[in-house]
Amino acid sequence: MPKKSAQPPPPAETEQPEAPIVEPTPPVDVLYCSVCTFPPEYCEFGSSFTRCKEWLKEDHPDLFDKYYSDEAFQTRIGTLSLEAQTKLEKDTAKKEAKAEAKADAALKKKLSSQVTIRRIERTKRKHVTAIYGLDAFGIDLKKAAKQFASKFATGASVTKNPQGLDEIVVQGDVSDEVLDMIEEGVGVLKGIPADNVEIVEDKKKKGGD
Ligand SMILES: [Zn+2]
Repeated sequence: MPKKSAQPPPPAETEQPEAPIVEPTPPVDVLYCSVCTFPPEYCEFGSSFTRCKEWLKEDHPDLFDKYYSDEAFQTRIGTLSLEAQTKLEKDTAKKEAKAEAKADAALKKKLSSQVTIRRIERTKRKHVTAIYGLDAFGIDLKKAAKQFASKFATGASVTKNPQGLDEIVVQGDVSDEVLDMIEEGVGVLKGIPADNVEIVEDKKKKGGD
């Protein structure tokens, strides 16, 4: 170390390098993670830690550095035993894998779900329209039935189909109109990709005719 001629005396033993407090701290604006809704320092206890960190890095890089820089990580993890470190990592990975799998499954279900509009011939002149699968897109069947009933001024109800699953049955042949409503996302019928909707004919088979 090169010696300096006019070196100030070393600080007293008890003195700590501290930032001077000039005024009372203003009310704290509490920040909540937009991913898991915890304050950012608790993100690691949620199930979306990876995405939380991405958010923090994007929106609050200063805080990200504070919590997750290599240095901060070493300081924090250094206080844990090796066993505890491994467990923490495993737990986090497990939680995240579970949450991701759940989100994945929900998305897959949505993508693979099909809304089927069946035009059912009851007699030569009487039809009903059965709409199956709206609930897979988070649509309340009772509300949708109500909407169909008022739109077409006819009867519409939620009933069990032959497979024992709920579907909406509307009196009359309104299948094309229902398809249009779904495509346009009218009222409660929002969020269904047009590709996931099909109309099928259900003609009455006439025995011996
Ligand atoms: Zn979070």
